[in-house]
Amino acid sequence: MKLLSIVVPCFNEEEVLPLFFKEVSRVLADIKTQYQAEIVFVDDGSKDHTLNVLQRLASESSIVRYLSFSRNFGKEAAMYAGLEHAKGDYVVIMDADLQDPPSLLPQMLHAIEKEGYDSVATRRVTRKGEPPIRSFFARMFYKIMNKMSDVEIMDGARDYRMMTRNMVDGILSMGEYNRFSKGIFGWVGYSTKWLPYENIERAAGETKWSFWKLFAYSIEGIVAFSTLPLSIATIIGLVFCGIAFLMVLVIFGKTMLFGDPVGGWPSLACMILFVGGTQLFCLGVIGKYLSKTYLETKQRPKYLLRETNETRSRQHLSEPLLLSPHTDLGKDSREKNQ
Ligand code: UDP
Ligand code: MG
Repeated sequence: MKLLSIVVPCFNEEEVLPLFFKEVSRVLADIKTQYQAEIVFVDDGSKDHTLNVLQRLASESSIVRYLSFSRNFGKEAAMYAGLEHAKGDYVVIMDADLQDPPSLLPQMLHAIEKEGYDSVATRRVTRKGEPPIRSFFARMFYKIMNKMSDVEIMDGARDYRMMTRNMVDGILSMGEYNRFSKGIFGWVGYSTKWLPYENIERAAGETKWSFWKLFAYSIEGIVAFSTLPLSIATIIGLVFCGIAFLMVLVIFGKTMLFGDPVGGWPSLACMILFVGGTQLFCLGVIGKYLSKTYLETKQRPKYLLRETNETRSRQHLSEPLLLSPHTDLGKDSREKNQ
């Protein structure tokens, strides 16, 4: 039987985790004759009781594994840790807030096993329930990014994606510290099937992404997957040199022909400011790349673990999918149907 790993990054998700587990278990129960499963929860330094919830889930169900970070390292680090620890033949990354519908799992498995895809990714077709200003900037980002970078990044792509072991190993082999998964997924290639779906609101809790966090993340993405800004800086420099050269010719000619009464200093001051500003901007762009290079060369770990139930689940993994008597998978759906 093939093993399916579900990787779930969690940051302050105590409210939604029990709900998430229930939903996923229901879907897993439907496919348990064909697949074994494990859920790898990664507690990304939560400040609430997420870890306690995970410990409880792990004690109740043998398919639950968890890793807990020493502090908040960000979703990228959490996904990396999850992929690194997942043992499955197929690995799927899923948000804890049920915005990634678990009901798509059988469809994803089918596309990989029967249709021969290496990965199945999901894409939101609407941005319903999102502030318009955020949607606007998100769209802009995808447009700019796709112009700038050779790597294709799908508009509205979510991190909810199932991959084969091959592709996961490919992603893990990209050991960069500054990770931008949407770019990494594109960079590694492999055939990808896209499943479009309507945006779903979070089941409980609230989003962890502020506008500025997203903005910083988009800059990260551009710096990680495009060096075009560096070329643009060079081009701006060349254009200014050209303009300066032409101006020298014009001024020289004018002085020779008509003489040169002193004047025009305000325009000169403006030009100096403009050129100075542009130089600082370009320096900033170069600095951004340099700082990323600096961080990469330090080779810091992408995350630090404080706690896991690793040893326990390793021994359990050799056993077939066993759910504890406490987890009656059919119960909830039965209740709902009544
Ligand atoms: N997340 C995380 N670390 C962070 C921020 C978020 O592991 O620093 C997780 C979060 O728990 C959730 C997923 O990433 O499972 C997506 O976060 P969220 O739902 O807040 O983002 P949104 O869906 O609003 O883009
Ligand atoms: Mg969400």
